[in-house]
Amino acid sequence: MSTILEPGQIEASAVMPPFLHLPPANLFELRAARLEHLAEGHALGDYLRLVARLCRVQQQLVDNPPGGLPVAAERQRLCISHGLPPLAADSLVREGPWLDWLQSLIDRFDTEPEGPLADALGTLRGSSDAQRKGWAIALLGGQYDVVPAALVPFIGAALQAAWSSWLLALPEPELKPAGSLAQCPACGSPAMAGVVRNRGKHNGLRYLACSLCSCEWHVVRVKCVYCESSKGLRYSSLEDDRHAPGKAPLRAECCPGCQGYLKQSYLENDAAAEPLADDLASLALDMRLDEEGFHRLAPNLMLAPG
Ligand code: FE
Ligand code: FE
Repeated sequence: MSTILEPGQIEASAVMPPFLHLPPANLFELRAARLEHLAEGHALGDYLRLVARLCRVQQQLVDNPPGGLPVAAERQRLCISHGLPPLAADSLVREGPWLDWLQSLIDRFDTEPEGPLADALGTLRGSSDAQRKGWAIALLGGQYDVVPAALVPFIGAALQAAWSSWLLALPEPELKPAGSLAQCPACGSPAMAGVVRNRGKHNGLRYLACSLCSCEWHVVRVKCVYCESSKGLRYSSLEDDRHAPGKAPLRAECCPGCQGYLKQSYLENDAAAEPLADDLASLALDMRLDEEGFHRLAPNLMLAPG
């Protein structure tokens, strides 16, 4: 059996980088393993291990989805054909098809009977669907002051598991770029971090990873993803004895024009890097950039800022 390509298709595949890089079905298991690795000897080791535990529950949810698809196949096709995100977070978070996922996550997360984790779970267990929706809307809207900080990782984990599962179930999505470079074409949420990939047809290309659904989309390198300027960008990384300068596996692309920045992992320098795990393990870099006057616009749903 052979596939015959039209000449136009051959030319297109030679020049056009693939727009999407979809996560593997075991994304949360890989993320948990990476977090456990990074937690060794890390100042925030306990926190990274807690997020790893949540990732293991997220993987259970993706493997055994507590609810079906959030939108009818017909509406998905319509969105995709009109270039709209088929899993639009702003409307789906209000419609609430993810509530079953949060309940399932609460039921599955095992913790000791007392302590801050047990308190957080107790607050969640005692909350109504309306309260849960209010928290999730605030979290996805970046209004962190409305959500108790201890609840953020649990609500964020449930939302991520639902949206990633729905993303993986989309029928061969052909998504179009969103209005802004930093916006996910699948769900419309902001990017969490970038990844410069190192393998196959994605080699050397930059993809931005969605903070909600983990979809990755292509954005050319050396361009501020917020104001689209390429002038004077600089790359900041944490001091690390193991890596020569300029070879750091995680660097922040800092824009002097809009004072925004985005952290990105270079898989060429560390093939095991994982956007969410490596973002949480490098919060010291965010603190330094904040002191230098740069603003972080990329959410990480497992962490309330400050
Ligand atoms: Fe997304
Ligand atoms: Fe900028």
